[in-house]
Amino acid sequence: MLRGTGVSAGVAKGTALVLACGYGCAAPRRSILASDVERERTRFEAAVARAASELVALQDEVSERIGGSQADIFGAQLLALEDRNLRDQVLRVIEERRINVEAALSDVIDGYTRTLDAVPDAYLRERAADVRDVGRRILSVLIEREGRGGPEIPDGTIVVADELLPSVTARLQLDRVRALVTERGHKFSHSSILARSLGTPAVAGVSDASQRIKTGDRLIVDGVAGTVFINPETSVGREYDRLDAELRAYREGLRHLVGLPSVTLDGTTIPLLANINKLADTEAALLYEADGIGLYRTEFAFSIRPDFPTEEEQYEFLARAAERFHPRKVVFRLLDVGGDKTLPYFPLPPSRNPSLALRGVRLLLRHLDVLKPQLRAFLRVSAEHPASILLPVVAGIEEVRQTREIVREVQSELSAEGKRFNPEIPVGAMIEIPSAALMARTLARDVDFLSLGTNDLVQYVLAADREDESSAAYYQPLHPGVLRLIHSVAEAARSAGCGLTICGEMAGDPLHTELLLGLGLRELSVAPGEMLEVKNTIRRIRLDDARDLARQALELGSVAEIEALLNERRAAVVGAPDARSPALPPP
Ligand code: PEP
Ligand code: MG
Repeated sequence: MLRGTGVSAGVAKGTALVLACGYGCAAPRRSILASDVERERTRFEAAVARAASELVALQDEVSERIGGSQADIFGAQLLALEDRNLRDQVLRVIEERRINVEAALSDVIDGYTRTLDAVPDAYLRERAADVRDVGRRILSVLIEREGRGGPEIPDGTIVVADELLPSVTARLQLDRVRALVTERGHKFSHSSILARSLGTPAVAGVSDASQRIKTGDRLIVDGVAGTVFINPETSVGREYDRLDAELRAYREGLRHLVGLPSVTLDGTTIPLLANINKLADTEAALLYEADGIGLYRTEFAFSIRPDFPTEEEQYEFLARAAERFHPRKVVFRLLDVGGDKTLPYFPLPPSRNPSLALRGVRLLLRHLDVLKPQLRAFLRVSAEHPASILLPVVAGIEEVRQTREIVREVQSELSAEGKRFNPEIPVGAMIEIPSAALMARTLARDVDFLSLGTNDLVQYVLAADREDESSAAYYQPLHPGVLRLIHSVAEAARSAGCGLTICGEMAGDPLHTELLLGLGLRELSVAPGEMLEVKNTIRRIRLDDARDLARQALELGSVAEIEALLNERRAAVVGAPDARSPALPPP
């Protein structure tokens, strides 16, 4: 049995498919005959030539649109591509190991970057990223030519990888994937958020998973406890069949909540909205009757494409989401890239610590060519639907004012073109940097609403990387410091009369629901799959009790004490009857 962290609930049985390396996750792997070697060699040379011409074109485009220094990154990649040594190695591996070009390329690039990653020289380490990117580019040319979106995935597969980038996850044949197991990441990583939004059970932070598990192993993945069983005894299998049936029955039991209001025992309505990562998530959100979309993370739609979507393309998918939710509100967040969320076609300046570098709105304000088409698309959707704009990674008032200025410019341009939009479109700021949390009251004067992004807030308050499994123990949403900050933001928003939603992942955990209401939150935005359980909890809460609970929690000094208090309260809340429907058994 291997241990990690359960990051997407549910259990699954299936057959392991080990994807060898982070960048090579999409590489199909097969043995070839001696007579196929020449064909693979030709495929490789053709793919390298095409990758080179793409890089030259990108270099020109980026130099024109973004600037010469950014374009230099592609110059460095071209050099890596022209490296004869690297290319000879790939050809040698094809010939000696008789494997297809995609697999040979993955292995060679992996070996290269592992060597470069280990050297003390920071410059050489950065070259590893270039080599990886070049590998990814050649691979995508090969895969595209093959007419396939990713590796062949048999039905009932459990994907095992060191790391799954959102762009790779989105290309897997997900209807065939029963579960995901990764070495890297933890509950608040973007790949885990994606797994939850897909409803696929997942365990992250499993050390050496891709070495200890072999393709073809029978696995049981427990996304609740965070365990993975390799070729288990039949008795373990039976136990999990039972658990699976219980979990399904529990979820089925929650279905009666669809159509019931999200209201506390004392009659306060708590709007429950959905976090959406892609258009397909709107299905589940509609099924569970979300009160709107509280957070549309637009970056995922960008991450599965080879280049920037045009304004028209953006307008199309955003308008479709807004139409489906009409007349409920839809909050579109501006592209939040930087940090761990990168786009292969949008190179960022190298940084030692990307989470503390150019991200979110800071980055967009330097790239109006990216910001403006997105704003135009949002504004055009707002002509017909109640759309709002949300700014990610706001540190203070300047970014809000500068972005508002650009919103006004874009509005004038649209007016001049005779295009319709809502001139009063609400503009909100994410509260996910501590400075923004501390000055929420001042920010509230310049925005129409605030949205508490605890995923990033926790990482910045506690100096604990949300993506790094070795920091998982320090990444504590229930830390007293975090709770005090959430409380002060809720107070600031209330006194300023400014709307506040919480859209960080902690809002989707029913263990936190009563505490969050007690701290002053009155609107929650959660993953669609979490809505019913949160609603079930809301309907058993009395606000006076919630405030009492929050007061007690704020007095406590440690996470362990706060957790113990919440677990004790949770038992009481789950056991309490919902005034309007029969009690459910505890999960
Ligand atoms: C957050 O940081 O809490 C948030 C909702 O944004 P994301 O997870 O996309 O960074
Ligand atoms: Mg965030």
